[in-house]
Amino acid sequence: MDFNLTGIQATPSNGVQHVKVLILGSGPAGLSAALYAARAELSPLVLTGSELGGQVSLTYTVENYPGFPNGVGGTELVELFQKQAERFGAKVEFDTATAVNLSQRPFEITAVNKKYLADTLIISTGATPLHLNIPGEQEFTGRGVSYCATCDGWFFKDKDVFVVGGGDSALEEGIFLTRYARSVSIVHRRKELRAGAILQSRAKSESKIHFMWNTVVTDVLGDEKVHGLRFKNVESGEVVDRPADGLFIFIGHQPNTQLFQNQLDLDERGYIKTGITMETRVPGVFVAGEAGDPHYRQVITSAGMGAAAAMQAIRFLESQDRI
Ligand code: NAP
Repeated sequence: MDFNLTGIQATPSNGVQHVKVLILGSGPAGLSAALYAARAELSPLVLTGSELGGQVSLTYTVENYPGFPNGVGGTELVELFQKQAERFGAKVEFDTATAVNLSQRPFEITAVNKKYLADTLIISTGATPLHLNIPGEQEFTGRGVSYCATCDGWFFKDKDVFVVGGGDSALEEGIFLTRYARSVSIVHRRKELRAGAILQSRAKSESKIHFMWNTVVTDVLGDEKVHGLRFKNVESGEVVDRPADGLFIFIGHQPNTQLFQNQLDLDERGYIKTGITMETRVPGVFVAGEAGDPHYRQVITSAGMGAAAAMQAIRFLESQDRI
């Protein structure tokens, strides 16, 4: 196989592109992996997936990424990550992998626009918000039901909205929604929040935020759009309908790993099994960020995993005498 001077192997006439490092996903993990692989002069190629920047690009402000004492916009942070990786020769393609064959090297990756052969693969496909799976949820998604306050909050100016969940996401997004909404009710199935202390005290001191404890939403009610919700108190069993303009659901995530189901080891929730070296059971395939991390799921930890995965990929290529 011929290599050109940039490290990207020549694309054969059948349109298949052969690269040394292919990165699936363009969130903090993927773009950090790209930075490290690019600085090793491996000209990594990043396939963006359907969402450039992943979940953080939907976050209004990131306040816990070091180096930004006043916080930084999620989209802005992703742009900075991308710019920095590209400065050293990484390429970012708007394409999404649809099938992979990891049974032999180079690995074969089929994407929407092209086929790729990769000497090493870094999987940073992230995660997708979980759904409640209640009547009306799917029907009213985009018509009052949302999984992203940054994207949809503006539509709820002076409205009454409900947020399901008791974790950091529910409180962070609930606080964000107070910019627009008249009231934000946080509906949690228990009496104790899972969220960290700072977010808890911020939410509890926000006058527009109210809490509905020991309560679940069982039905979304509406016609053209949402006009109410049915609630059940899980302790008393009491069921009530209340008027509502919006329902925001933040109950956790599911890793985007379906493509790898029969080729890598996944845990019972679908996270790719890995360790501190980001390796998977297939030599040359690494995972970084939320696709393999059910524990931390922060921008900084994902970025760190991306760097580690790239360093392992570099070592792997060296061991294969490919550099
Ligand atoms: P999470 O921590 O898993 O919290 C999910 C919440 O949804 C929990 O309160 C859970 O209730 C509730 N829930 C789950 N399934 C439910 C269902 N079927 N019906 C009703 N409620 C349900 O998820 P997350 O808030 O998205 O956070 C994920 C990770 O990202 C965490 O590690 C978090 O620290 C991190 N994160 C950090 C920040 C930040 O640092 N600024 C911001 C966002 C997220 P129970 O509590 O009863 O289980």
